[in-house]
Amino acid sequence: MNQEVELLSRIRVVLVATRHPGNIGSAARAMRNMGLTDLALVDPHRFPDPEATALASGADSILDSATVHATLVDAIADCEHVIATTARVRYVSIPFSEPRECVARLAAGQHPGKVAIVFGRERTGLTNEELDHCREAVAIPTDPQFGSMNLAAAVQIMAYELRLAAGARIPEMPEHQPVPQGQMEHFFDHLEKVLIATTFVDPAAPRFIMRRMRRMFGRAAPDSHEINILRGILTSVEEALGIKPTTKTFPHLPLHAQTQKEQP
Ligand code: SAH
Repeated sequence: MNQEVELLSRIRVVLVATRHPGNIGSAARAMRNMGLTDLALVDPHRFPDPEATALASGADSILDSATVHATLVDAIADCEHVIATTARVRYVSIPFSEPRECVARLAAGQHPGKVAIVFGRERTGLTNEELDHCREAVAIPTDPQFGSMNLAAAVQIMAYELRLAAGARIPEMPEHQPVPQGQMEHFFDHLEKVLIATTFVDPAAPRFIMRRMRRMFGRAAPDSHEINILRGILTSVEEALGIKPTTKTFPHLPLHAQTQKEQP
């Protein structure tokens, strides 16, 4: 199992006495987005509920596999470590930290077993009795004048921090692979030939322009797709000039060019 899956699969999100089923749905969606799967609900006001399903926006698998418990103690019975989340650290007697610091310790393997992250009621958060069952607390830094976040938003931030700490990143762009010099030489030969055909370059003195073009395309370091496009453009010019046979028609071109192109 890779590090990312390993950490995320050990996390259980516990929502205590959630009042609005929409918050359960939004939390499930946030979990699914970040690769968390284990949701436990303690005494939810309404669940299952169409509002939860609606706000889960397709993260039904999380709701379907969610477990429902009568008490917090029951929901965390098999967990090695229990972390409370709270907007008000002042009232907490257990050690507390910020999300990034806390999840870094989890990612480093401080608690290798199942870890519960517990979220409180929308209005009143977690009771002191519930906090007694948690070993540490996490507070998301917010404006102290308006510190209480929406429940699902708090779940989203914790889930995101876990995902980053687990090492997940957006997929990288495929590495840029410039074509080898041989293909560049074929392109420059082709370019020179076409520029002579259009009379832009004087065949008696092609050096100056071609040297500048080499410098410019050398800087661009085209990859094979780009070189194929450039070669295709040159070929289309040759076809339009009638120096290369083509099956295409060029209705916009003067007639003499059209008859020319018929000749091999
Ligand atoms: N008045 C309550 C607010 C509860 S908000 C209180 O102060 O605790 C619902 C839940 O969202 C909280 O119990 C907590 O789990 C989470 N939450 C909200 N704001 C948070 C914050 N700033 N940091 C960590 N968790 C937060």
